[in-house]
Amino acid sequence: AKRGGRGTYQFANATMNEVALERLRLESALRLAIENNALRLEYQPLIHLPSGRVVGTEALCRWDHPERGAIPPSLFIPIAEDCGLIEALGGWVLKTAALQLRAWHDAGQPELMMAVNLSARQFQRGVVLRQVEEALAVSGIAPDRLELELTESVLLHDGEAVTAVLRRLQALGVKLSIDDFGTGYSSFAYLRRIKFDKIKIDQSFVRDLIDDPDNAAIVRGIISLALSLGLRVLAEGVETEEIAQRLRHLQCTYAQGYHFARPLRPEVFALQQGLSIPP
Ligand code: C2E
Ligand code: CA
Ligand code: CA
Ligand code: CA
Repeated sequence: AKRGGRGTYQFANATMNEVALERLRLESALRLAIENNALRLEYQPLIHLPSGRVVGTEALCRWDHPERGAIPPSLFIPIAEDCGLIEALGGWVLKTAALQLRAWHDAGQPELMMAVNLSARQFQRGVVLRQVEEALAVSGIAPDRLELELTESVLLHDGEAVTAVLRRLQALGVKLSIDDFGTGYSSFAYLRRIKFDKIKIDQSFVRDLIDDPDNAAIVRGIISLALSLGLRVLAEGVETEEIAQRLRHLQCTYAQGYHFARPLRPEVFALQQGLSIPP
């Protein structure tokens, strides 16, 4: 029994070492990828539901690992957050997205918006404020064309300090939206603290809009809440025309999802939008 016990212990230990090692490997590969400018962005169209027009895009970070292929952001963003790389990564995303938007504005779509995701860690030490200012300065885009998406993890963090930074961001003229709305514990509280521009309804509610009456009631409730507060509202994860139709019926103004378009490489987005970008 003793030997078996020890063997089991060693096995668990070896497994934990393996997990820790794997994590360390990914971390240093990510560090390199950031340094070598090996990350890239894809852009998912944001749709105005009544007209079907593309009004903007959300920038989504991509990492193509040289040996392992695509690593999803749900895996590498948390690593970047834990090991302090998110500041550099987040700054790069802001700048790259802003410059890309500028190119599309110049190519003939000056109304297009750009949405960028922010992590809670970017709010520490006020770094994000400088990064947004820099992105605006180097790109020359109008501040109100840039929209920053915040999840509850940002809003939960140290309430007053974050609120102060958010107010300063708003003073610059950029837009703020709440991402994954409905998944948090106190989503309503944020609405009182800050005047957001947009609510993004989490895809978990949108997906089951047709089959689940409770979900339908929640979506309807969020839309009417948003409209009565004077906020824009977007439904995430729209995968079928049936759902899009239902959302139009519920007066939802904006949508995003595979039914309209997947996240696209910038050259594919430009092509689809009929933009002529010099190579
Ligand atoms: P998110 O901000 O909620 O982004 C939406 C996610 O849903 C994206 O996943 C997108 O590809 C996916 N999606 C869009 N339409 C559909 C649909 O119709 N059906 C389904 N099933 N999924 C859809 P992605 O690109 O894997 O990103 C995952 C998350 O990683 C994002 O969720 C965001 O939280 C984070 N992320 C991505 N890029 C960045 C970044 O640059 N900075 C930060 N801080 N986070 C990022
Ligand atoms: Ca988002
Ligand atoms: Ca989301
Ligand atoms: Ca999400």
